Amino acid sequence: MQRPIYLDCHATTPVDERVLAAMLPYFRESFGNPASVGHLYGWEAESAVKLAREAIANSINATPEEIIFTSGATEANNLAIKGVAEAYHRKGRHIITLQTEHSAVLDPCGYLESLGFEITYLPVKSDGLIDLQELEMAIRPDTILVSVMAANNEIGVLQPIATIGQLCHERQILFHTDAAQAIGKIPLDVQAMQIDLMSLTAHKIYGAKGIGALYVRRRHPRVTLAPQLHGGGHERGMRSGTLYTPQIVGFAKALEIAIASQAEEEQKALTLRQHLWQKLSELESIRLNGHPKLRLAGNLNVSFRGINGQALMLALQTIVAISSGSACSSAKSAPSHVLKALGHTDELAYASIRFGIGRFNTLEEIEIVANHVVESVRSLRNS
Ligand SMILES: *Cc1c(COP(=O)(O)O)cnc(C)c1O
Repeated sequence: MQRPIYLDCHATTPVDERVLAAMLPYFRESFGNPASVGHLYGWEAESAVKLAREAIANSINATPEEIIFTSGATEANNLAIKGVAEAYHRKGRHIITLQTEHSAVLDPCGYLESLGFEITYLPVKSDGLIDLQELEMAIRPDTILVSVMAANNEIGVLQPIATIGQLCHERQILFHTDAAQAIGKIPLDVQAMQIDLMSLTAHKIYGAKGIGALYVRRRHPRVTLAPQLHGGGHERGMRSGTLYTPQIVGFAKALEIAIASQAEEEQKALTLRQHLWQKLSELESIRLNGHPKLRLAGNLNVSFRGINGQALMLALQTIVAISSGSACSSAKSAPSHVLKALGHTDELAYASIRFGIGRFNTLEEIEIVANHVVESVRSLRNS
């Protein structure tokens, strides 16, 4: 049986063969612990981690000391938000974020509320973008952190990160961005964009699962964090635990490839997405979710009025791997909080599908998927 076409690249991506090849030596002969300073095995691993850290730092205009490796963006978000809250609570206990953030931002914020912090969850405009005036109005003297994602994982919209960074810095408020979907797909420069903390992950850019990083600014201002994992004092005490050399090496390789091919991949994804949208537009009563232009090239999120997204996914499951407007956060089957924040009814949120186009998709695949979706939506609407 043929495997379904993979169009769920916001959930994860396959490991690129070049990334895998870069990782393999560190599973095999160079398996040492980078913290073992007394022998060749340790030196090899340590030097590989050092090079990877430098490459990752360079790619976002940071310094190597500003990179803390984590198990992924979930952990990076937790470390950033809870770590800042714990370190700065004497300065203030108010944090601002968006209603459309990933649960790895929303849930740490909810946890902080239970400890007595106050969180403002800003609404977004109907195109998914932040209202900068609302942000300015929400800022208070006791605001210590603003956390706004760079690119949304459901509707792909790109928030005006540089503007938010400037706004925060003018008021001496720390700015964190969850860049799990943005890294490698749009240029990210922590200096130009005045970002203080940035969460990254490898598995959305053809690296392995289980590795990510938190960028933590060291100058202008120097950000302090309360560690959330205590132990051997790795990562300058901010995140203990033996470093995963193969995953770290692979992360750097994945990022290098993504940045080198960014313009080309963006153009290709855009072409495929436009083709998909054009074909889907044969259907009546469909609606594009999220800003039409300020979005990731590979993202298309569509509401098909009158159908159930889960039913459509089920009808198509042998053809294509996609996500519905309810399945975005693990096993939850509540309507997507992101689509709800755009003003969708539960019904319209449930009628939505997310297509995530990636590096290995072809026009032929898009053609097949589009035809099946059109056919299935028509038959579901008629039944
Ligand atoms: C995937 C994703 C995460 C979680 O990243 P992990 O590395 O899987 O923990 C967080 N935020 C956003 C926006 C994501 O897309």
